[in-house]
Amino acid sequence: MKITSINPFTQKVLESFDEYADEQLEVILKKATSAYDNWRHANPETRKNYMCKVAEILRMNKEKYARTITQEMGKPIKEARAEIEKCAWVSEHYAHEAEMLLKREAVATDADLSYIVYDPIGTVMGIMPWNFPFWQVFRFAVPAIMAGNTIVIKHAPNVTRCALHIEDIFSEADPEQDGIMQALIIQEKDAAKIIRDPRIKAISFTGSNETGAKVATEAAGNIKKSILELGGNNPFIVLEDADIDKAVDTGITARMQNNGQSCIAAKRFILTEPVADKFMERYVAKMQELKIGDPMEEDTQIGPLATEEQVKKLKAQVDKSVKMGAKVVYDGGAVDNFYKPTLLSNVKPGMPVFDEEVFGPVASVITVKDFDEAVEVANQSKYGLGVSIFTEHTHHAEELVYYFDEGSVFFNDMVKSDPRLPFGGTKSSGYGRELGKHGIHEFVNVKTIYLKEGKYHHKPQKEEHVAKSMGG
Ligand code: NAD
Repeated sequence: MKITSINPFTQKVLESFDEYADEQLEVILKKATSAYDNWRHANPETRKNYMCKVAEILRMNKEKYARTITQEMGKPIKEARAEIEKCAWVSEHYAHEAEMLLKREAVATDADLSYIVYDPIGTVMGIMPWNFPFWQVFRFAVPAIMAGNTIVIKHAPNVTRCALHIEDIFSEADPEQDGIMQALIIQEKDAAKIIRDPRIKAISFTGSNETGAKVATEAAGNIKKSILELGGNNPFIVLEDADIDKAVDTGITARMQNNGQSCIAAKRFILTEPVADKFMERYVAKMQELKIGDPMEEDTQIGPLATEEQVKKLKAQVDKSVKMGAKVVYDGGAVDNFYKPTLLSNVKPGMPVFDEEVFGPVASVITVKDFDEAVEVANQSKYGLGVSIFTEHTHHAEELVYYFDEGSVFFNDMVKSDPRLPFGGTKSSGYGRELGKHGIHEFVNVKTIYLKEGKYHHKPQKEEHVAKSMGG
């Protein structure tokens, strides 16, 4: 059976790929295991040089990779280039930080010497979505590889060429380490047999809640750890003391970037009464200025949605919400494979645009009296990826941070991922963390070492331990 990628702008077939046969999958899994047997012993310097080389290859071929992203899933070319830059950043970040993040930790106990080391666990399977086809893979895979693991990815079928480019980058970084990152060209229904394979030690899943639940169930049934990065319905709160222009500008990017198809996009704009009308008026003015069109053109800001199903789903969510009483402040609507920027007000719980994830450039406004009501509305969601709060008095709002059931709270900026900070959700947005110190500790064996009353021939020095803790 063929796996096909279609350009969402031209609607033409870009490429068709043969699904891998069982024998090919066997070769890949054997290679991942033997690469692990070698890579787990690589010293910190080797790992660092390898990941710096990955960053160099990304930057050298930025244009090629960015064009593939835009062709396969339709994001504006400038955003595709920024995605590649961010992948280079995360690669360099962990190249330089991994040794420190993984160093052994001494713990004072009754032993002569007791400490913790972070060993790799083996081959980790990534199941990844199409919306940031490079970044999603890099942000889980780079720390996992720097911890000494190897990776196989089952990418979304519409971004298969991106998956193959990613495999090539890691092979090219050091041909001797071939097998650290491999793509699996398989049907969705065949992912379960890879999850079950004993050579796969854990699963990192990013995607929808429905699929995440199936993947986690399969992993748990085989006693394998999974981390889930799922959907979001982020609140974007504007308090009466906010800088409105700053809030509007940021709110446009937070909702519209990636053609509105981001898990951490601002989706529910919770505006306090005194600023609501002013915010909406300026927001609409900015929406009207957005350049919609061919995502390959330099000045395009909104391209097509990635697939026809996305357009249909979004249209159904908006239509139903309008029938239930949402007011159309600015109407973009579905046009061919595009969904144009749209602003809805009078949005309430029970409407799809309030309750569900809205994956496209549709902003929903809920007007509230004050900060307390804003917190209540913000938390009225099954999701919990992150919240943005616009206020010029952050010292006051900061005291209320703990009322939010979210993975992150951002003041006066949009929720975004940063290699230095942990990223992940609460509630139905998933579990586990990527990035930062916590991300590199997700796929390791936290090993306790306890030495008591022995006559050791050789008491290891700290530096040797540090190297060992990275080398397994
Ligand atoms: P999806 O769940 O449809 O697909 C994700 C991956 O799972 C793809 O590779 C897909 O082919 C695969 N898949 C589908 N059915 C499967 C099955 N039965 N078994 C195993 N794998 C299967 O999601 P999508 O439409 O590709 O991505 C959009 C979703 O991803 C949105 O909900 C978005 O919020 C979420 N997302 C979350 C984050 C985050 O960090 N929380 C980041 C990006 C995207």
